[in-house]
Amino acid sequence: MLEKMNAGREVKSPVAKTEKLMAVKGMNDILPPDSARWEWLEDKVRSLMGRYAYRNIRTPILEHTQLFVRGIGEVTDIVEKEMYSFEDRSDKHGHYDHLSMRPENTASVVRATTEHNLLYDGGKRLYYMGPMFRRERPQRGRYRQFHQIGAEALGFAGPEVDAELILLAAALWKELGLSDWRLEINSLGQPEERAQHRAQLITHFEQHADALDEEAKRRLRSNPLRILDTKNPAMKAMVESAPRLIDFLGAQSLAHFDGLKAILDVNNIPWTLNPRLVRGLDYYNLTVFEFVTERLGAQGTICAGGRYDYLIEQMGGKAAPAVGWALGVERVLELIKEQGDAIVLPVPDAYAVIPEVSGLPIALQALQALRAAGVSVQMHAGASAEGLGSMKSQFKKADDSGARFALIFGATELAQGSVALKPLRGEKAGGAQVQTLQPLNNVAAWADTLRTPPCS
Ligand code: ATP
Ligand code: MG
Repeated sequence: MLEKMNAGREVKSPVAKTEKLMAVKGMNDILPPDSARWEWLEDKVRSLMGRYAYRNIRTPILEHTQLFVRGIGEVTDIVEKEMYSFEDRSDKHGHYDHLSMRPENTASVVRATTEHNLLYDGGKRLYYMGPMFRRERPQRGRYRQFHQIGAEALGFAGPEVDAELILLAAALWKELGLSDWRLEINSLGQPEERAQHRAQLITHFEQHADALDEEAKRRLRSNPLRILDTKNPAMKAMVESAPRLIDFLGAQSLAHFDGLKAILDVNNIPWTLNPRLVRGLDYYNLTVFEFVTERLGAQGTICAGGRYDYLIEQMGGKAAPAVGWALGVERVLELIKEQGDAIVLPVPDAYAVIPEVSGLPIALQALQALRAAGVSVQMHAGASAEGLGSMKSQFKKADDSGARFALIFGATELAQGSVALKPLRGEKAGGAQVQTLQPLNNVAAWADTLRTPPCS
């Protein structure tokens, strides 16, 4: 199959068997200690989602290509040029599937909701975290495998749920220590209102045809709203002077928007109206919003969302309203770093110094008990014919590990059924600043003194 797909094409980088293999361009390894930041963020998100009663959903990374064509729209950057799509191997009848790596997760959430009839007993609040894939030009804040955290509320029509989602995001920024953001909102109204605006928009663009780039010309008939979303600075003036969708909204749409704004105002969430903020597809409606920062250069949108009351039906489900957002984890973490990062990177509570190889079995037994009691211990390792290394080199490693205590499993201590506990950083072990002996048969009695004090 690969041969068939690549007929007439050449492999870009033939890799000799001994050559060092590298990750795919635009796809990053997340390594310690940086991965601790990811875990820290994910923990905060889980805790917060729980407090808003949003429940976790996990959908497959591979889906039928058609899901994204229908769920995102044929005339979008993502579907036109960014998806990783391929033909699966064929079954015994020669039939095969067109599959794609998910470029976003809303379409999958809607599919799962419909497939499992999740709305049978009322609305559902869901959240997800995970990798998404888009074949874009890699640059700061823009990768080919990136990560999103998203929240979706399905089955609720009122502006209070739009507000709940925005308040949830604002609470998250607060917990992450982020203050450098701006909230932009807009309303896309309803399809009939958009149809009237669309006609005038096309007229406007036609009057400025010379200012349109190739992509805009192509989208003039298929998806003119999306032209407002252009990243081409040369089109900025022409886009600024375009008719505003917000001016075409009827009373009901405006009431929904006003309902949202009233809740945001009372909750001191500052917002600005951005009449050019759009989602180019018919099943998006009413509220759209973005959290933007100036501190990340061109890739300043950290979170984007909106209402999609017509999508579930469009995807073959029973009609139901819905609203959601997705944030870019890489951009949020970058912003946290930009603002000066207060994340405490993890260190073990204790480092186990093991002078003799013969001490290993008992040492591992004691460490097992300590870890069961909630203590984090890094064990000295690297035994060879010469043993486990000098005390000096082991203490150097203990120090480098950042641990607050050393546990010394020396032959003399083990012979007494004990281990020596030595504070490394001016800590007091059980009230004492000096080395003490602790019993191995009752680890629970002293494990507490080693454990990281709970964060205030
Ligand atoms: P952009 O305009 O920056 O391309 P988008 O409109 O394509 O964003 P959405 O599909 O709304 O983005 O995705 C939600 C969020 O996911 C974005 O606001 C951004 O934070 C993040 N995101 C999107 N694409 C990427 C990417 N290629 N790399 C890193 N983060 C991304
Ligand atoms: Mg994009």
